[in-house]
Amino acid sequence: MKEKKQNILIIGAGLCGSLLALRLGQRGYNVTVYEKRPDLRKVDISAGRSINLAFSDRGNKGMKLVGLEEKVKKLCIPMNGRMIHDKEGNTFMSNYSGRDYEYINSISREDLNALLLTEAEKHENVKIHFNKGCKHVDFENTTAEFKDYVDNSEFKEDADVIIATDGAGSALRKSYYLGKKFLFSFSQDYLTHGYKELSILPAENGGYKTFKNALHIWPRGDFMIIALPNLDGSFTVTLFLSYDEGEYNFNNLTTPEIVTEFFQKEFPDALEIMPNLVDDFFENPTAPLGTIKCSPWHYKGNTLLMGDSAHAIVPFYGQGMNASFEDVVEFDAVLDEGLDNWEAIFKAYEKRRKKDTDAIADLAIDNFHEMKDHVGQAIFQEKRKIEMALEKEFPEDYSSKYSLVTFNEDIGYREAMLRGRAQDKAILNMLSDNVISAEDDIKDVLEKVKEETEAILEDD
Ligand code: FAD
Repeated sequence: MKEKKQNILIIGAGLCGSLLALRLGQRGYNVTVYEKRPDLRKVDISAGRSINLAFSDRGNKGMKLVGLEEKVKKLCIPMNGRMIHDKEGNTFMSNYSGRDYEYINSISREDLNALLLTEAEKHENVKIHFNKGCKHVDFENTTAEFKDYVDNSEFKEDADVIIATDGAGSALRKSYYLGKKFLFSFSQDYLTHGYKELSILPAENGGYKTFKNALHIWPRGDFMIIALPNLDGSFTVTLFLSYDEGEYNFNNLTTPEIVTEFFQKEFPDALEIMPNLVDDFFENPTAPLGTIKCSPWHYKGNTLLMGDSAHAIVPFYGQGMNASFEDVVEFDAVLDEGLDNWEAIFKAYEKRRKKDTDAIADLAIDNFHEMKDHVGQAIFQEKRKIEMALEKEFPEDYSSKYSLVTFNEDIGYREAMLRGRAQDKAILNMLSDNVISAEDDIKDVLEKVKEETEAILEDD
């Protein structure tokens, strides 16, 4: 870059901001980060946020970029598939891929964030300040106003560029919107469902009360619970439920008796290992789930939105954090192109990235319906069986939509979505027309699926 601007101000030291700070620090920029909350390495601030997350290949690309793959691996619990629990307490495992080496991981948000912060701070050109929340960004003058939550003082910071990684409620995005200085498009769509975190505590011997290496799902059509393992033997359980529809909903689950009755009726095997249900239920908040899309992400060469601040999505593909880490990888690749000003860099980054973050937002909504409902249906289970066999027998020739999104780092989310949706349509159509079945010769099935997929892709 001709006039290399050196001072970068990052707002928000969550998952995306701390990785970005680390990478830009490695590249030699002077990086100052302001984080609203206290330092999570010193104060326990996990309550109410998702405690663990599904971490997969796209997120791991970010770890490889900064040389942290091995350290992060130590924080991971592999989850090879979904373990489905029916109402009678029967379980069956549906692997994420027919290729043994493809699986996702459960990781603690706090441990991962702490590692990234510590690694970023090893660079003396990276400074991270906690308890300082951004109130407003003057994107024309590249300054930001902060409040110090320790002494209640307010101050203004100047920088060459400001990058906001301050999550779904971004202060920079609000400043764009309220500033009305340029054409800024913004949409926020809430689901009618919210979520609440619960837990399965470790067994008395410190072990796991149910199978460790799976993402557990109790699909019930209009609602579900899921559970992801933690390193200490516990599971974080999340209930996804409508606020006001159906026999049981967040608005009418108001007493310990109704909550217990709901779990007794719908999730009896989970209730058996959740003696702490009622306490968790009334202590933990219920939070909404929404999708945020906006554009442009940048204002000239001054400011840029990244991570959830640019594209918050619902959690059903387990990709929000992974996408935010991939943002950093993509941004880094644009920096490598040698463009000579920040406006060109921000423009090029948004151009290559936006189509993919729009796609994962839509895929995440699709998966909401698949997880709470479809995974329990016979035709979807047969489709899954066929896809597992195809991936096992023809590992080079076939990848399901899930694999394309989760494990194929070489293509973007949009390409994964288009191909994956066409394959889904092809298999489901042929299953309902009895053109294929899980018992057919698998080579024959592959040919038919490929042919039908190409025909669908051509039509679209
Ligand atoms: P955040 O993690 O939200 O970080 C933003 C940071 O900015 C925070 O530290 C915040 O305190 C700080 N901040 C906010 N406002 C200000 C301000 N004004 N000034 C200064 N600092 C500020 N993703 C996955 O990949 N896999 C999953 O399994 C998964 N599960 C999820 C489950 C749930 C229930 C939810 C809600 C999300 C899940 N996600 C998952 C998504 C994931 O949490 C987000 O995509 C990810 O945290 C985005 O990282 P971020 O750094 O952009 O934002």
